[in-house]
Order: sequence, then C-alpha cells, then structure tokens
Amino acid sequence: MPSIHARMHTAEHMLFRSMINYKPELEIIKVETDEEETKFFVYGKLDWDTMLNAEELVNKIISEERDVKIKEIPIEEARKDDSIRGRFDLIKEKNVRLVEVDGFDKCLCSGEHVKNTKEIGKVLVTGFNSLGKKSEIRFKLDAFSELYGLAGIARKLTTVMGVETGNLVPAITILRSNYESSKKQLRELQNKLEIKPEVKSINGITYYHYEFDNYEKQQLNAQANKLLKENSVVVFTNKTERVRQILIYSNSRISAIDLLKRVTKKGGGNEKSAMGVVENDEIKRILHEKSN
Ligand SMILES: [Zn+2]
Repeated sequence: MPSIHARMHTAEHMLFRSMINYKPELEIIKVETDEEETKFFVYGKLDWDTMLNAEELVNKIISEERDVKIKEIPIEEARKDDSIRGRFDLIKEKNVRLVEVDGFDKCLCSGEHVKNTKEIGKVLVTGFNSLGKKSEIRFKLDAFSELYGLAGIARKLTTVMGVETGNLVPAITILRSNYESSKKQLRELQNKLEIKPEVKSINGITYYHYEFDNYEKQQLNAQANKLLKENSVVVFTNKTERVRQILIYSNSRISAIDLLKRVTKKGGGNEKSAMGVVENDEIKRILHEKSN
C-alpha cells in the first residue's frame, strides 16, 4: 500500500492540473501536505464553480486507473515540452525526474507518488478562501463522513429556505442582497433622525448623553461630531444584538479613556475618544454620581 503522503501528494499534482485546466493563469505558491488535510496557496482568483469542476475532473481521472510513470530525462528535453510543469529557473542538474499521470499531467518532482491513480481514493475539496490576489485551497481524501455532513447541511437548508436543493444558492443570494439593501435603507433613515440628547453641565463642562439602538460606529462618530463643541463630552451607548457599546468623545480637560475605565475594563482609546462594552446602564450611574 502506498503511504498516505504519496496518495495526498499525487492527488495534489492532479488537482492542480485540473484547476489550471479551467484557469491556466494559476500559479502555485506553496503546499502544506498533511495526512488529514492538504492546503495549498496559489496566485489567482478562484470560485466554487471552478473548484467543483476541478474536483469532478480529478475524480474522473482517478477513477480511470491511470498509471503514474516516473523517468529521468535531460533538462534540455524537458524545457522543450510546454506541457511539463516545473520550476525550471531553480534547476541546476543535467537530468530531471519527470512524474507523469498518464495522458493527464507531467511535472518535475522528486517526491513520493503512487504507481496508479486507483491507489489515491476520492478527492474532496473541503474549502477555499480568496485572499486578495491569492487563494487558499484545502482538500481531503476519502472524507465520506465530512461529505455526508456537508450534504446534511444543504438538505436542512432546503427546509429553512423552503426551496429545492438546486435553488438554494440563488435563494440565499437574493436573501443576502435584500438584507444588504434593507440595512442600507435603515442606515439612511437613522441618519435623517434628529436626536435629542440629555444635556448636563458639570464644573463648566457640558455632557451630552444619548442611547442608540443598533447604529454603526461610523454613524455614531458623525452624530458625536455634531455635538462636540469646546469644553464638552459626548457619551453614547449603543445597543447591539449582543452587547451594549459605550462610546466617549471629549473636547475638554476630561480624558475619554479615563472616563471609560471608570465604567468598563473592556475597551480602549485615548484622551479624545474611547470605546468599550458594558453589560448594563452603568454609565447613567456614573453620570448621576458626577452631578451630585
Ligand atoms: Zn510530486
């Protein structure tokens, strides 16, 4: 039996060949081979459709039980063959080791490979991330329980979404786009609302306090800028789904971060502005204390 490493490594040659079959511009940056899951990084943008096509192709070739042939050839001969993949710029030897998956892929490599593709098993692409100009791809071999797990999620989603499996992706795409536009409309409405903050004057400093419900930080900064005159402190609380945020802005001798620290240890900032998280209305108590 070939080692798991040889199976993984040969699968990696073949999966990459399948990917460049659809996206010839892809280039390998590095590979992290692991017995459980192999990760590789490539230059070039990818998407699920390409990866699923590549997965289908690699599994088709594997099932055709193709021989993996290894031979030594002169580097000059290798250079003349455009179908051979390899880091020609790094090779100094006169002869190179050519690994060929019969009629599918030719690659210069000194690693360990299987003798026939039937020894590999089934390839499952377990994930990919787009990292700007690069992409990260992960795959496993014979990961049937994971495959059933993923299929289970898709089947549960058909009930959640009330559509057939084939319509899941378009249905969720529409849902996401509707959510984004509703959020945008909500933000526009919120920005039009005029707020009436609580105002208190303590030792020559004007304190403004207002409680918001589910605003974004950018919006709160804009609201604070409207209020923040000389010798003033603005204290906002903002109820989000999980926590109550507290934002303090100061244009006075009062330090925003010092004031925040009196309320909560969770947060940070500087003299002029600070942001943290509180579990309850402690800021009201603090303000109340200061005014007495
Ligand atoms: Zn190899």
